[in-house]
Amino acid sequence: MPPAPLFKAPPVPTRTLPVPPCGPNDAPLRAIQLGSHTVHYLLRHSARRSYGFMIDDDGLRVTAPRRSSQAGIDNALRAKQGWILAKLFERGERHARRRERAPLAWVDGAVLPYLGGEITLRLQPAARSHCAFDPEARTLDLGVTPGMSEGQIRERVKGWFQERAHSLFGERLDLYAPRVGVRYNAYAISSAGTRWGSCTVAGNIRLNWKLVHYPLALLDYVVVHELAHLREMNHSPRFWAVVESVFPDYDGAKAALKKRSAEMPVLFQD
Ligand SMILES: [Zn+2]
Repeated sequence: MPPAPLFKAPPVPTRTLPVPPCGPNDAPLRAIQLGSHTVHYLLRHSARRSYGFMIDDDGLRVTAPRRSSQAGIDNALRAKQGWILAKLFERGERHARRRERAPLAWVDGAVLPYLGGEITLRLQPAARSHCAFDPEARTLDLGVTPGMSEGQIRERVKGWFQERAHSLFGERLDLYAPRVGVRYNAYAISSAGTRWGSCTVAGNIRLNWKLVHYPLALLDYVVVHELAHLREMNHSPRFWAVVESVFPDYDGAKAALKKRSAEMPVLFQD
């Protein structure tokens, strides 16, 4: 079969500022013009008397005193403008560097991260598309139909990862729920930016399917973390005690997940 055309990641704008994730039920993001940049941020009011600014991969979060006016918030943001922009640039550039590590080609022989190890993508011409994992050869065999684009190949592989993630999450949740001493109601896969998991009081758990790229122990940590929220809906010492009782090295897992995700190539844009 002719070599598949190269898949090139879209060009990265020189300065991309991270924007906080915002769900349909969240308060809308605010924006302010700082110099030549529009900065989006998430606003929260609190009982504290001073302004707080937090910047991470999810962008800028502002904590404002309860009675503060928009003008007051704007002034506080402008007073910290230099620091805010520098931090956001730093985060944005780190994110851009991560994108540069994306594989250039969805071709035969491409190496993909799976459960902390690597598997090889094997493309074979086929009349009908299929996608099957060979655990012994550690290959993901994909049937490529005539005219199939690299974008379609990528989506097919993504679908396989998502299926694997879904069934693995089910297994691990069922393994750990009794150990944590809880029952969950339902679970689903998510793909929210840098969020690995979430849990509602009703016991609905969402886990990021990209966890399937990481070692099983790290996936397990996130599973235990979300299950523990069914006992403690917060991040209090009591919550961490629940996590620790089932997953003693949770600190190590947290750090490893952070480090590995910073190094992980971006295979899929969402
Ligand atoms: Zn949590």
